[in-house]
Amino acid sequence: MRIYLDNASTTPMLPEVITTMHEIISDVYGNPSSIHQHGRKAKSIIENARKIVSKVINASLGEVFFTSSATEANNMVLKNAVQDLGITRIITTPTEHHCVLHTIDFLKKHHQCAVQYLPVNQFGQADLHQLEIWLQNPEHKTLVSIMHGNNEIGTIADIKSIGTLCQTYQALFHCDAVQTIGKYSVDVQENNIAFLSGSAHKFHGPKGVGFVFIRNNNMISPYIHGGAQERNMRAGTENVAGIGGLAKALEISTTNMTHNQRTIMQLRQSFKTKLLESLHDIQFNGCQEESFMAHVLSVSFPPSPKADMLVMNLDISGVSASSGSACSAGIEEDSHVLVAIGHSSERKTIRFSFSILNTEEELDYTIDQLKKISLS
Ligand code: PLP
Repeated sequence: MRIYLDNASTTPMLPEVITTMHEIISDVYGNPSSIHQHGRKAKSIIENARKIVSKVINASLGEVFFTSSATEANNMVLKNAVQDLGITRIITTPTEHHCVLHTIDFLKKHHQCAVQYLPVNQFGQADLHQLEIWLQNPEHKTLVSIMHGNNEIGTIADIKSIGTLCQTYQALFHCDAVQTIGKYSVDVQENNIAFLSGSAHKFHGPKGVGFVFIRNNNMISPYIHGGAQERNMRAGTENVAGIGGLAKALEISTTNMTHNQRTIMQLRQSFKTKLLESLHDIQFNGCQEESFMAHVLSVSFPPSPKADMLVMNLDISGVSASSGSACSAGIEEDSHVLVAIGHSSERKTIRFSFSILNTEEELDYTIDQLKKISLS
């Protein structure tokens, strides 16, 4: 038995996505930049994908660009906003993904960009009162970079209020929506989002392809220089099959969004109930009552020598889940997100993350293994 409960890390591709990509790889080999029929066929796949993405996030066609990943999209936005749009300050949170935090570190060091980290509470929610106070300072042109759904603890940010504050104080809002695209509705107009990133492999699409939304009035210069692909914004021959796969996966995920949310929520709730019934002193990290993504469940286990080995022993028993810690110089440390929410490093954390492909039987098996591992 092999069970996959690490869907916040990446998701398996849906069969329909594999079929679509297979058809593209077999039949569509023209270069999308070529003007002959072969090229035009490839180009039409990309433009159709752009239509799908822009419709899902409520953007115009000209505001969506395909990239190799959300990491690239976030780098592009942050670096070029400082370089091209005169951003002198970035306000962010300590619980962002490393591709945002490390890019901001770079900008601080090499571009003298001021950086302010909003405090977060024990659930990982940013202090929006503090955000307003900081935004009132008119000395800076500010970019606010806050993710929609946190990949480690599942907390969903109040992007409506953040967008409204940014609008009031003329700041630009960058939202890393990698964990919510395809699972929850994300509307760039409603939330006054200036920049947004997404990644296909988080919603059952292929790895190595993502997209960035750049609002028309904030166009930045090209991040990768070369040919005129992606309307001069992102040079390099496009990953046609990947982009086609991204669009197919997004189309399926958004069509089934309500049903998928319900199914995954049921899986989460029954897993939580069974965990509480089967093991003692279990704690859950992040918001649990509201403002959370159903697919992420961060669980902390009481301190014990066995707890240290939980993720490894689960793996040996056939269950893939993710550890809430990072190993640096041989010392295991809590992830930066758990540190930011004040999690006790004594307790070991596992992130279980679900998808529509998981079943109750798989969760029952996982609970049985957890019981065996922690009691034996
Ligand atoms: N942002 C968040 C919230 C993520 O969870 C991830 C992936 O783990 C990324 C960004 C990076 O995405 P990609 O794998 O497309 O570079």
